[in-house]
Amino acid sequence: MTTVEHKVETFDSLNPATDEIVGTYPVHTEQDVADAVARARNASAWWQSLGFAGRAERLQRWKGIITRRGPQLAEVIHQETGKPHADAMLEVILAVDHTAWVAKNARKVLGPKRRASGLLMANQAATVEYQPLGVIGVIGPWNYPTFTPMGSIVYALAAGNSVVFKPSEYTPGVGKWLVDSFAEAVPEHPVFQLITGFGATGAALCRAGVDKIAFTGSAPTGRKIMAACAETLTPVLIEAGGKDALLVDEDADVDAAADAAVWGGMSNAGQTCVGVERVYVHEKVYDAFVAATVEKARDVRAGGDADAKIGPITMPAQLDIIRKHITDAIARGGKALIGGVDAVGDRFVQPTILVDVPEDSVAVRDETFGPTLTIAKVKDMDEALVKANDSRYGLGATVFAKRRGMELARRLRSGMTAVNSVISFAGIPSLPFGGVGDSGFGRIHGEDGLKEFTRAKAIARQRFRAPINLTTFARTEKTDATVAKLITLLHGKRK
Ligand code: NAD
Repeated sequence: MTTVEHKVETFDSLNPATDEIVGTYPVHTEQDVADAVARARNASAWWQSLGFAGRAERLQRWKGIITRRGPQLAEVIHQETGKPHADAMLEVILAVDHTAWVAKNARKVLGPKRRASGLLMANQAATVEYQPLGVIGVIGPWNYPTFTPMGSIVYALAAGNSVVFKPSEYTPGVGKWLVDSFAEAVPEHPVFQLITGFGATGAALCRAGVDKIAFTGSAPTGRKIMAACAETLTPVLIEAGGKDALLVDEDADVDAAADAAVWGGMSNAGQTCVGVERVYVHEKVYDAFVAATVEKARDVRAGGDADAKIGPITMPAQLDIIRKHITDAIARGGKALIGGVDAVGDRFVQPTILVDVPEDSVAVRDETFGPTLTIAKVKDMDEALVKANDSRYGLGATVFAKRRGMELARRLRSGMTAVNSVISFAGIPSLPFGGVGDSGFGRIHGEDGLKEFTRAKAIARQRFRAPINLTTFARTEKTDATVAKLITLLHGKRK
């Protein structure tokens, strides 16, 4: 008897600071993905049967494991993305906090609730509850390989779904760590599974009959995901890129705003979906703000050593995009106050601050995803708003202002805005997170994030027979006349 050996194709995960191989993973095929989804389908029935309390207990258990072994997970993140260990720890801590929040709040947000039944249906008891969809496919990016996908994973799990997770091909080891540690907390069934590979594996997940795809990544990939999901009418949540603006008003704390611009723009080497990329500053404080920002940015150095504040550009192809944005900005009259074209190396990009860049240039319009900022002077905050909102993206935003902070925040076309701090909304588990326009749609985090992975189930239970029954062929003309009178009394007033 001969056996045909099935050769498993694999790929390597590399450390972007050194190109050292840190792990080898299978390229999962369409069949592998289908098998994982079938297993997830069985597991989801068991997971749902545990109820909110049973799931919460297990999510708390998992949270404990992640917390106790946080440094180990941070090391995997550090190796696969190159980001400093301390920054990796920060995303682990935030993910733990979100896990704690869903474990505590899922029942309150999704459990059965009484609703008023209204005068016409006063004999009915009305309730709504949010039931799990079944199996959720999560497709993740590499830039925050724990915090970002966990914003979908733990919310989907807490709502009662099983999850099949396809991490980025740059960070499969982080995905494996998360799935393996979950299996320690929940050994009974494969409630949370890993599939690894490139775009084709992700596309197979879109077509595998899951009940929803939660995608985080770039807008162009988001379009492909939607197209693939359309074939099976699979709903999608899209968390895509951004070109976030920071506004500095005349009464702002300029030093704090400069600090926020530098951290918001440069931390994680600028590879943050809600990173600050554009700054609009009131003319009265422009000079002071630019001076403070440049001074603070001088302290930030990209490198592979432990003292470097930022690491490498994780995805080598991004280096060309960053270089193109800076080159184009300078060619069109922009000035680099720090950094510039030479700041873009083979792996690392040093902080770059650009001024006088035309608003229609790529450095202002497209996602740069590097440690760069464009700063523009505006005559007032209305001009700042018009310019900030003139973007096809609309993910996060930041405002530094005393008097008009909340007003400006409301008028910014973005899913989230931080006032007098930066990116703070992402660390508040009760706040929804998601974009507008090319930044995507749907929400992770908070109550909205839990509901995103459920379907609303409405139940009307008759408590007693009503004197007026509308839903019968036995309805009389007298009944219709009574209802007409009643409705006129209720809603027909001229005021
Ligand atoms: P990407 O779009 O290249 O890849 C994201 C994921 O999609 C990866 O797992 C990839 O393998 C998969 N994929 C690629 N082609 C696919 C296809 N045809 N079908 C299915 N899956 C496919 O994004 P990236 O480079 O990993 O991440 C960076 C981008 O993510 C940036 O634009 C950033 O702003 C964005 N991002 C957004 C958020 C948010 O919450 N809105 C958070 C983090 C990152």
